[in-house]
Amino acid sequence: MDEQGYAGPATLAIGPDRYEVQVELRGAFQPIDGRFHWYGRIAAHDGLAAALGSARVTGTLVTPEGQAACEVSDPDPWRRYRVSGRSTPPFAVATDLPPEEDEEDEQDAATVLGHVRVAIIGTGFGGLGAAIALRRSGRRDFVILERADSVGGTWRDNTYPGCACDVPSHLYSFSFAPNPAWSRSFSPQPEIRRYLEDVTDDYELRRHIRFGTEVTEARWDAGVARWRLSTSRGALSADVLVSAAGPLSAPALPDVSGLDTFPGEVFHSARWNHDYDLAGKRVAVVGTGASAIQIVPAIQPAVSELTLFQRTPAWIMPRRDHRISGPEHWLYRHVPVTQRLARTALHVSREALVGAFTRRPGRMRAAQRVALAHLARSVPDPDLRRALTPDYVMGCKRILLSGDFYPALTRPNVRLVTSGLAKVEGSTLIAQDGTTAEADVLILATGFHAIDMPLAARIYGRDGATLARAWGDDMQALRGTSVAGFPNLCLIIGPNTGLGHNSMIHIIEAQIGYLTDYLATLDRLDAAALEARAGAQQRWCADIERRMGRTVWATGGCVSWYLNAAGRNPTLWPGSIREFRRATRRVDLSEYDVLRMNSPRSSA
Ligand SMILES: Cc1cc2nc3c(=O)[nH]c(=O)nc-3n(C[C@H](O)[C@H](O)[C@H](O)COP(=O)(O)OP(=O)(O)OC[C@H]3O[C@@H](n4cnc5c(N)ncnc54)[C@H](O)[C@@H]3O)c2cc1C
Repeated sequence: MDEQGYAGPATLAIGPDRYEVQVELRGAFQPIDGRFHWYGRIAAHDGLAAALGSARVTGTLVTPEGQAACEVSDPDPWRRYRVSGRSTPPFAVATDLPPEEDEEDEQDAATVLGHVRVAIIGTGFGGLGAAIALRRSGRRDFVILERADSVGGTWRDNTYPGCACDVPSHLYSFSFAPNPAWSRSFSPQPEIRRYLEDVTDDYELRRHIRFGTEVTEARWDAGVARWRLSTSRGALSADVLVSAAGPLSAPALPDVSGLDTFPGEVFHSARWNHDYDLAGKRVAVVGTGASAIQIVPAIQPAVSELTLFQRTPAWIMPRRDHRISGPEHWLYRHVPVTQRLARTALHVSREALVGAFTRRPGRMRAAQRVALAHLARSVPDPDLRRALTPDYVMGCKRILLSGDFYPALTRPNVRLVTSGLAKVEGSTLIAQDGTTAEADVLILATGFHAIDMPLAARIYGRDGATLARAWGDDMQALRGTSVAGFPNLCLIIGPNTGLGHNSMIHIIEAQIGYLTDYLATLDRLDAAALEARAGAQQRWCADIERRMGRTVWATGGCVSWYLNAAGRNPTLWPGSIREFRRATRRVDLSEYDVLRMNSPRSSA
């Protein structure tokens, strides 16, 4: 369906207030939910900016062509607001809009989705990136299934104070959608989330997304060579299933006895309770990973006491974060090549580090000296310094970046417990070494189910067994994407695709390139499906295993969340981005069985 829109003056009514604004709007009817989705920008407006700040509000937008309820949110650095709405738009459309339905009828109407060429699970960087690739290759017959009610994945779910990326923003964004508006070199979560909302609009993805739709089961139906999906809102089938359900999207809770006896508030860092006021409270934070080191300095000034439970200290490098200046913004906007150059420079400097992770961990010593100097500068107390000094090689666990974590630990209201939380007895928290602390609130910064992808228990392959069963404790996939026994299943950020040194967006882009070629190959061969050959998958994984032996993750002397119970690393890619790109540039048909509807299995 064609895009339709309006540009010109409008009146925005928010409560009793009226603002005369200039808008640019567009929208389209979405067959997926049977509604018209419209969205656009309100030009910079002093009165609006003063009244709203960064708040998200609802109101009514009136143009000479009509009026509609709307949501106004997310001002960008040029103080333009995003405006959006569903159903009747505030401008004339050529399309006959379906009559408004009440919520219940609408749910019923949308329960069965029919058949699509591709079903994508998730609207994080992975799912949105895959959807953009499909649209760019001219495909429209796909749907994106998202259990939440908005896009963003990681960047929608992690809203804890201080949340920001730890890879520079110029790198932590799509190469084809640079954002000249990043406010800082390491952007805060709300900006990354807004970026993903904007990308969703700019690439016209909303018409493909079904929010509030959790995939509860995906079953390969060999009879018709397609995936049959059950979701919380009905069933559908798809020729190809793309899982971009996220490597870090299911919070992991610690194995602590008596957690249910804690009388106060308990929440995971990825499910922050913003209704709970931490001011003046005794707060305990469990964990010293990437989330905890952002949370601690952000909440320390407000709380009365902060107890931090640390199992293992992390290597922490100073984070050279800075505000991006007006002239830089101007350059990135008006001379886009400057931002591409900045991205390239960052990428090259990060790639230069890969050898230290994958082949010569001894080279980490120079970086360790920088981190130790940072620690010495920030923490005068020798006992505290000792407690914060790692005893393994840098890089073995994720290297963290922070300029304010160590200083926060030196404040009088902060106490470091150098032992993991073992037991809870009412409001008393007991560490493994017996140390106790009293708390009103417990914040679990304890990471995610990274090595036991929860969706795997819901995906049933050719033989009727789940992916979780096929994997056991050891996730394996061909080129991080395809799994033997699971035809036409493509994993974005599948096994052995994670990075210790660079942005995950590079990996996602390489994989969506592979997906594009995969779909083109199916079309070219007029095949029903491709299925990774077990031998090809084994060779790929054996090669990874061989290379893994030399990495810092295997030799660095630590236990990390990268490793499974057997001590194998099914999480990380033991090579450079360039190698991964090369490995995923094209589908190699010698690694796949080609399934045709009349002759179930053939070799290419
Ligand atoms: C706090 C934090 C900070 C990070 N910072 C960085 C960084 O600085 N640099 C970096 O490279 N990486 C970082 N990462 C890693 C990050 O996860 C990846 O970079 C990337 O965002 C993953 O994108 P994704 O689309 O694969 O997954 P996600 O963003 O997790 O999206 C997965 C989506 O799938 C949906 N979903 C899951 N299961 C289902 C289901 N059954 N049905 C329907 N929908 C489902 C989820 O709701 C979610 O929206 C960070 C991770 C976290 C948690």
